[in-house]
Amino acid sequence: MTDTITVIPGDGIGQEVVPVAVSVLDEVGEFAFEEYDAGDAVQAETGEALPAETRRAVEGSDATLFGAAGETAADVILPLRAAVESFVNVRPARAYPGVDALRPETDIVFLRENTEGVYAGHENRLSDDLSTLTRVVTDSASRRLAEFACDYVADGGGEFTVAHKANVMRETDGRFREAVLDVAEERGVPTDEVLMDAFATQVCLSPSAFDIVVCPNLAGDVLSDLAAGLVGGLGLLPSANIGEERALFEPVHGTAPDIAGEGVANPVATVSSAAMCCEFLGHDEGAERVRQAVLEVLADGPRTPDLGGEATTEDVERALLDRL
Ligand code: ATP
Repeated sequence: MTDTITVIPGDGIGQEVVPVAVSVLDEVGEFAFEEYDAGDAVQAETGEALPAETRRAVEGSDATLFGAAGETAADVILPLRAAVESFVNVRPARAYPGVDALRPETDIVFLRENTEGVYAGHENRLSDDLSTLTRVVTDSASRRLAEFACDYVADGGGEFTVAHKANVMRETDGRFREAVLDVAEERGVPTDEVLMDAFATQVCLSPSAFDIVVCPNLAGDVLSDLAAGLVGGLGLLPSANIGEERALFEPVHGTAPDIAGEGVANPVATVSSAAMCCEFLGHDEGAERVRQAVLEVLADGPRTPDLGGEATTEDVERALLDRL
């Protein structure tokens, strides 16, 4: 059966790296691709950063591959994550053989709550002097994330660590912590916990102490970017926004305006996101082939300038397709 994947390259280097991921997917499976617009460029043209037809396409397809959006990112990615009813953002951060990494032993998967926390959108300007933000934490979202984490551990073994700041945000992170640990106990999954500020230090000094890290929304965003620095940069990190029925895959990086249009963006983060997409759609063998090709190309080159090489995006694309 042919799976349809909605493709949204978006802005900046999204336009350069998403086509690479599409040609890689095309090489390993039977997929139909339907391309839609979102982001700054379509906003400038039509007044809408996320056209209704794009949103409808995402709501109607099992899987979406997204690149990046610039100034309009919050108007695009938050509704898109909602469109797939995504409750967890999976962000693997692993170092690759052959790539210069600050911490080559890093191999961590962040499972980030994806619907609430301080990103729930409740900000207010109350006066010329005062703005406020309401943080939202529910038992249901925290437990759903924990169930996913337990399934994730059941698939791969090990334990997970909950990162939180419940010693200060006693009510909100207290609830998050308690809900996650309760589910883990019910499911018999071993866990550990760490204060998120201490985690930021520990992960730099000793990344191999962590395997799977479960975090609230903002913490997961920041800490996984920090981990990107340990493994060789943002050009490598994929992510998956998983819902009960649909999912959206995107690189952790943004539009990289400093290099956009130069043809030197590293496509690996997006290609690895495509591998996660393949797996989500049940094409495990295709996903494994893509991962293997990425491993080999990163080890042997060519490499883009962010990894110290001189290759173009197209050189890396050709090398990946050759391996496949
Ligand atoms: P945005 O506002 O869209 O998030 P940004 O510049 O703030 O853009 P990123 O796009 O994530 O954030 O880029 C941060 C830095 O990492 C930039 O210097 C960028 O060039 C670099 N970078 C990000 N992604 C890649 C990539 N795929 N290949 C090479 N360099 C990248």
